[in-house]
Amino acid sequence: MQFGLSDEQEMIVSTVRSFVEKEIYPYEAEVERTGAVPEGLGDEIKRKVIDLGFYACNFPEEVGGAGLSHLDFTLVERELGRGSMALTHFFGRPQNILMACEGEQKERYLLPAVRGERMDALAMTEPDAGSDVRAMKCSAVREGGDWVVNGSKHFISGADHADFFIVFIATGVDETPKGPKKRITCFLVDRGHPGFAVRDGYRSVSHRGYNNCILEFSDCRLPDAQVLGAVDGGFEVMNEWLYATRLTVAAFSVGRARRCFDMAVEYAAQRKQFGQAIAKFQGVSFQVADMVTEIDAADWLTLAGAWRLDQGLAANREIASAKLYATEMLARVTDTTLQIFGGMGLMDDFPIERFWRDARVERIWDGTSEIQRHIIGRELFRPLGA
Ligand SMILES: Cc1cc2nc3c(=O)[nH]c(=O)nc-3n(C[C@H](O)[C@H](O)[C@H](O)COP(=O)(O)OP(=O)(O)OC[C@H]3O[C@@H](n4cnc5c(N)ncnc54)[C@H](O)[C@@H]3O)c2cc1C
Repeated sequence: MQFGLSDEQEMIVSTVRSFVEKEIYPYEAEVERTGAVPEGLGDEIKRKVIDLGFYACNFPEEVGGAGLSHLDFTLVERELGRGSMALTHFFGRPQNILMACEGEQKERYLLPAVRGERMDALAMTEPDAGSDVRAMKCSAVREGGDWVVNGSKHFISGADHADFFIVFIATGVDETPKGPKKRITCFLVDRGHPGFAVRDGYRSVSHRGYNNCILEFSDCRLPDAQVLGAVDGGFEVMNEWLYATRLTVAAFSVGRARRCFDMAVEYAAQRKQFGQAIAKFQGVSFQVADMVTEIDAADWLTLAGAWRLDQGLAANREIASAKLYATEMLARVTDTTLQIFGGMGLMDDFPIERFWRDARVERIWDGTSEIQRHIIGRELFRPLGA
């Protein structure tokens, strides 16, 4: 067992961290104030990341990515977690599910996404189908050799900047002893395709400027060439490629918590009350001690999950534990930091109130904390037949 980073990994960490500090931090306040990424800035960030050789670094070299291991990519995500998500979105990590592209789909979707020419968004959630994905109503029926899609999706992140969408749609239903079970197929849908519209979504308190949208399908005709993976094989594609997004949420949470923690320590060391630094009060220093312990624990859990993926070991339970613990840790760390800042913590002169608001969504998206606990419990009890 080896706990240190290699020279190459140290270089990845320092390169991404200085990129975030130099290219992301200066624009965060404006994004927060306006709720939007300034015109042209997204493309500028993208261009700089391409020059740096980090665009689509989660993709293998044979398709033009940087070919990072899961562990190395987790280190990248951890550093990106420090910065505004609305801006780091343009650092460009296309959904790795695009590796399921076949034939000419590679030319139309996979390769342009890896080159930074086309951006993607992933759509699963619907108003009546959140945690229960199979309850989706958005459906496609066969007609004249095409699929005709009707329904909607909501909460779709990054859809305002996406050129195409990876959408999960019901393509049938099976009768099973446990009741009807929807068959799901994954489709690739271009922005502007007839019968498909992207509408403004809701305003979220978390990650301002990283907007979510509503997708609407109205008699939208899609040929078979738009199916990603096999017809009715949406869950298989999802299970093969989407597991790692939970790990990125965990890594984000660790990076964000470290930035927040550094500010808490600095503030506690310089803020004086009762004639001394508040860090001298055990009530404050114990909070700081708990914070760093929890951040380290979440960090190791997350890196261990990535390491297991690299070793080809089962990692479902471990990644669910990392996502659960890291996101709940982030909620505690941002809240404690705000407490250490006192009243100033709530003011937008400091980014602490933003970190506190941003943290809230991490326990909800990519599977809520309850769903992660469900996955962990299932993995433990299923082998025992319970
Ligand atoms: C800002 C934002 C961006 C998002 N971006 C995307 C995106 O890009 N693409 C996409 O497809 N989705 C996206 N989502 C959707 C996100 O993944 C869902 O919100 C999440 O899966 C939860 O679904 P829900 O909000 O419908 O809550 P529900 O599923 O209705 O859950 C409500 C509550 O019930 C609990 N619950 C549900 N089932 C169980 C159970 N079996 N056991 C115990 N408790 C349970 C939940 O934990 C939760 O506390 C986004 C969401 C948000 C808020």
